[in-house]
Amino acid sequence: MFDLLLKGARVVDPVNNIDRVADVAVEGGKIAAVGTGLAGEARETVDLTGLVLTPGVIDPHLHLGAEFGSPYGQRMTALSGVTTCLDMAGPVRSIIEDTRSYGCGINVAMLEGFSPMRQFGTESPTSGQMGKWIDESLDAGAIGVKIMGGHWPVALETELELVRLAPQHHSYVAWHAGSSTAGSNIKGVREVVNGIGDLPLHLAHINAYCRGRVNPVVDEAEEALSLLRAHPNIWCESYISPLNGTILACDLSDGHCTDHVTCNCLRTYGFSEDMKGIEGAILAGKLFVIRDNGTVSELLEGKAALDHWKAKGTKTAGSFPVNPAASRFLIATAKREDGSFVVDSLCTDGGCIPRNVIIPMGLSLVRFGALTLPEFVVKASVNAARHLRLVNKGHLSEGADADITVFDFDRQQAVYTWVAGRRVLDHGKLLQKGANFITSERGRAAVEKAGFTSTVVSFDTPEPARFIAK
Ligand SMILES: [Zn+2]
Repeated sequence: MFDLLLKGARVVDPVNNIDRVADVAVEGGKIAAVGTGLAGEARETVDLTGLVLTPGVIDPHLHLGAEFGSPYGQRMTALSGVTTCLDMAGPVRSIIEDTRSYGCGINVAMLEGFSPMRQFGTESPTSGQMGKWIDESLDAGAIGVKIMGGHWPVALETELELVRLAPQHHSYVAWHAGSSTAGSNIKGVREVVNGIGDLPLHLAHINAYCRGRVNPVVDEAEEALSLLRAHPNIWCESYISPLNGTILACDLSDGHCTDHVTCNCLRTYGFSEDMKGIEGAILAGKLFVIRDNGTVSELLEGKAALDHWKAKGTKTAGSFPVNPAASRFLIATAKREDGSFVVDSLCTDGGCIPRNVIIPMGLSLVRFGALTLPEFVVKASVNAARHLRLVNKGHLSEGADADITVFDFDRQQAVYTWVAGRRVLDHGKLLQKGANFITSERGRAAVEKAGFTSTVVSFDTPEPARFIAK
């Protein structure tokens, strides 16, 4: 007898070349069968007629750390139809802690953010210090580390050393391009690409370097795509929301902004890089402020945004609508000669930043005709599962994890999710608590000590070949 029988949805599973109306059976948290008119008894049957069922959506770049907006990132992510996510900055310990109160049953992997002033009290730590810090990050439960070169840039050589050290410490490594010599822009991308040689790297949110700061937007997007075509060792994602996310805290002694991304955005819109500039940008509708409303975090605009930012003594996060449509579109849809995608996945860079739009915006690309529905699934699940070495996710083969997203194509909205066969999302309601952490062998103890389950992955194995949809 099956635990669960999901009947009558359009099932889209590119790995198994399935795109048709079918039933999906689940037993023991795993996919038991996919077929037409599956017979047999089930403890629970759900009629999904008219909906689309895919392997669980994976968001490979978002933020769950409360400093980026609120502690509700997992909730906001789960509400958007995502079943697995990669946090790209930590802090790992506080995310695990917040999961006790705000977890909702999804799979969470984490990277610890590299901010050397905070971690070592110097911008130029030694290799020994950095190696030890990588080990400590893994011990805390992270799968690896992330260079925050856009927000807290340091010397290129220090950042490169972290990329070299990561594989030696069995650690995943990601980079938000930017250093003391190049900004968080296409010049920063050139620096990364030229510096890392053949080392593996997750280069974060490729769209964010193509905002027309150095060259025209489309030229920057074309350059980024050609650099990626020439350097297949780089894995990357892009987000498809117009909004970015940044920290709006200012140094109250002199009024200056503390975050380089905020400074860049203010400059883009012709505002000064200080409290006066932030105030001007908010009132001009070029900057939104994030407020924790007690359940999720939301975007405020205009006077309400300004009042909240002031009431918090500037200690808030915010979003500028800085991502041009042209670069988002080109980057989300570009392919290599072999038919694989140049930019492997769609992400949100959201989580606790309110822009968890893989399903609504991704399906807009499908409606536009820029992606087929199976291609959307490749970019929203298959590629990130393979890259994260989650061999039992991203497809609905018999024995795969029963991580499933069901959405309404016409309304471009998630309706249900199941994670390991448990219903997490049901028409806007979340039904589970806790989380399953994706971690390394070193991190398992910390996760289990905190009372959560774990899935152990290893990045010692080479990157799987890029998936090509038939
Ligand atoms: Zn990010």
